[in-house]
Amino acid sequence: MTMDGTMLLTVRGLSMKFGAARALDGVSLEVPAGSRLGIVGPNGAGKSTLLSIIAGQLTPTAGSVAIDGHDMGGVDEAGRARRGVARTFQIPRPFAAMTVLDNVLVGARHVGSPTRAAVEALEMVGLTHRANDLAGSLGFLDRRRLEMARAVAIRPRILLLDEVAGGLTDSEIPAVTTMVAGLAEAGVTIVWIEHVLRALLSVSTRLVLLVEGRVAIDGEPSEVMASDMIRRSYLGVA
Ligand code: ADP
Ligand code: MG
Repeated sequence: MTMDGTMLLTVRGLSMKFGAARALDGVSLEVPAGSRLGIVGPNGAGKSTLLSIIAGQLTPTAGSVAIDGHDMGGVDEAGRARRGVARTFQIPRPFAAMTVLDNVLVGARHVGSPTRAAVEALEMVGLTHRANDLAGSLGFLDRRRLEMARAVAIRPRILLLDEVAGGLTDSEIPAVTTMVAGLAEAGVTIVWIEHVLRALLSVSTRLVLLVEGRVAIDGEPSEVMASDMIRRSYLGVA
């Protein structure tokens, strides 16, 4: 919680329908400042949709998102970024014909001194040496680093990560977990969706299992991992 006792992020009764399909069905979550929350769940559970609603890229069919107790209804993505909400996308789509630095500057345009923020973000993710290269020339792991840098450059208070370890080799994964852990140490609140459980569990102090658009379990990682629910609905499918 912040000093005056308000929750950094409060999600209440979120539902999202795409036509007849229901992606989210009454999701409520409270995320105190300083949390390291991991979110797991089968494909199609609504995880990415939840991040898009929190970050203001999608408007929910029902329910609300509040930052510091202030309702974000009607506040767009840029407004939420100014309040410290940043996210990464599951499938990074950098501007391939722009330099790495310029890609990060696009993300940092809402903050004060964007160039400094972008340079610091590239340092943080270990991409400084590629700053002037075209984003299209980056390999897979470096694209993930760039995606992280774009989010970090807004100097987030809360960072929403969508499968940033997905598709990486075993030897590449520690680079990502070290980055996320470093941001958490620096005081950034983390909400991390991840299928690579070993990576997620190395950082998370709380786990939420999302199944069919609902919160199935929300608790201590050891408690959630030991539950029958996760065996049935997640590990069985993965
Ligand atoms: P997850 O990230 O847990 O795999 P998603 O949030 O991506 O799940 O998707 C949840 C459900 O919503 C899926 O059935 C998916 O097909 C559907 N969905 C997500 N985005 C859209 C969209 N823009 N239009 C239509 N259906 C969507
Ligand atoms: Mg997803």
